[in-house]
Amino acid sequence: MAKLSNTPKNRASCFCANCPSFNDCAKGKKELLYCAEEVGKSACEIPMNGCMCGACPIHEQFKLKSGYYCIHGSAAQVD
Ligand code: SF4
Ligand code: SF4
Repeated sequence: MAKLSNTPKNRASCFCANCPSFNDCAKGKKELLYCAEEVGKSACEIPMNGCMCGACPIHEQFKLKSGYYCIHGSAAQVD
């Protein structure tokens, strides 16, 4: 399995920007792709208003197991 890197292609596939939990703080910091090891948890206080990770193509492609990576940290840390 290829490493889940913070590439423009992977960022373009990430659903976070359309997620109900993704807030103005995260948007302002241009955060995305929290599941990637180089990214990990958000610098913002993110509310648990739902998570779209399970529907995202990256989740399937890299066989990820959970979600809320913005709160808990990267897939390498929490899955
Ligand atoms: S990791 Fe999940 S909860 Fe966090 S912004 Fe992305 S889709 Fe939403
Ligand atoms: S699994 Fe979640 S954090 Fe990772 S790319 Fe998909 S929506 Fe973004």
